[in-house]
Amino acid sequence: MGVVLTERQLTIGGEPTLADLSEALVAVYGTDYGVHNPTWISRFTDVTRQAAAYRDRRVLLAGDAAHIHPPMGGQGLNIGVQDAVNLGWKLAQVVKLISPESLLDSYHTERHPIAARVLRNAKAQVALRRMDASTKALNDTFAELLSMDEPRKRIAAEMSGLGIHYDLGVGHPLLGRRMPDLDLATASGPVRVFSLLHDARPVLLNLGEPGRLDIAPWADRVRQIEAGYDGPWELPVLGTVAAPAAVLIRPDGYVAWVGVGTQQGLAEALTIWFGPPAS
Ligand SMILES: Cc1cc2nc3c(=O)[nH]c(=O)nc-3n(C[C@H](O)[C@H](O)[C@H](O)COP(=O)(O)OP(=O)(O)OC[C@H]3O[C@@H](n4cnc5c(N)ncnc54)[C@H](O)[C@@H]3O)c2cc1C
Repeated sequence: MGVVLTERQLTIGGEPTLADLSEALVAVYGTDYGVHNPTWISRFTDVTRQAAAYRDRRVLLAGDAAHIHPPMGGQGLNIGVQDAVNLGWKLAQVVKLISPESLLDSYHTERHPIAARVLRNAKAQVALRRMDASTKALNDTFAELLSMDEPRKRIAAEMSGLGIHYDLGVGHPLLGRRMPDLDLATASGPVRVFSLLHDARPVLLNLGEPGRLDIAPWADRVRQIEAGYDGPWELPVLGTVAAPAAVLIRPDGYVAWVGVGTQQGLAEALTIWFGPPAS
């Protein structure tokens, strides 16, 4: 069982003890319920902080080293893991000299704004927890907004991290968004999209006429899958979007290119994300 208590006085320094916990329980409930043998006691505050830069040459920050905020909404671990997943494959490609070092700058560009919004969201939640009459009125107004479909979907998509959109240019709504986990039909049987990402390699999914996409110069790096799918394409908040003919999926599960019947822009996207063509 876990318990979270508010300390009336802000204490700087020093680890909280079982005696502090017991005292706080007595102050609220009149008893400490015989609390003993805690596995873990920790203290957090409503502070929000974010590193100005996630990369400085060979130093890269991810997770709580890059951003901290109060735990309301439970987003810290989620965005920390997504930082690492965004960075991991880029780092591997740079280390293996497949991609130029500048690929690492896209880590900051993509992930910094995400945590900035989480911090903003956490600050708003801290503000809404105040007990004065005006904040309670604000809370009620906010709760009313959340009873409406559109605001509820937006906030849920933001807090779950499922609505993240990296700015990879204009085009199909899938571009820069998380690839949905579709059930595909392939020559070797049914396949789930996410199972194609298990070995952390890019995937070019051709859902149109088989064999029409030629990525021979990247064949050593990008796995090409010929598949069929005739169900809906649903994205968080946006709902149903037009079915693409092909998608290039990065190892972190985000869509780097969308084909709508031609190969236009594919070579450029492959070069940007997975290095220049093999000669
Ligand atoms: C009360 C509370 C509730 C939370 N609830 C949620 C939740 O519901 N959902 C959610 O997503 N997030 C939640 N979080 C946030 C989540 O716990 C953190 O965002 C996450 O653990 C950060 O992971 P991390 O790997 O970046 O950092 P950490 O978990 O802090 O890991 C850093 C590690 O580095 C080690 N270390 C530090 N310095 C050194 C050094 N010099 N050398 C070697 N090792 C070192 C540390 O010992 C530690 O093991 C909560 C946080 C708190 C405090």
